[in-house]
Amino acid sequence: MSHRNVHRAALPRSRRDLARHQSRVLTQNHKRHVKRDTFRDCGRRCVYCGTCLGLENATLDHVHPLSLGGDHAPGNLVAACLSCNQLKGALLPLEFFVRYPWAGANFMRYARAVHRTFKRGARRAVSLHFSRAA
Ligand SMILES: [Zn+2]
Repeated sequence: MSHRNVHRAALPRSRRDLARHQSRVLTQNHKRHVKRDTFRDCGRRCVYCGTCLGLENATLDHVHPLSLGGDHAPGNLVAACLSCNQLKGALLPLEFFVRYPWAGANFMRYARAVHRTFKRGARRAVSLHFSRAA
């Protein structure tokens, strides 16, 4: 980035620059609010492994992955630690919970604000695992 660009970003000159600057600030604020709210709703933990997190090491996970048609609605967002987020990757929640039933068990406990379909799915996946194990 050239020196001139840095200057322009810091001090918007024209009306169009100002609008662009404000919309970027709004988006950043919005993201921060979404993250903080999701984090609070998840009990300040990773919903998959149950580890207590700080806001700075929490990541937002889309329960139904964006790449598979999931959206940004609050019912599709949970807080997760980076390693669980990477472990889950682009798996559908049901596939993930069948593979890692401990994640499903924690998800039922901590992901209180997610859409109830996901919780129902987690319960099914976990009980399926335990009935197979028995
Ligand atoms: Zn985790």
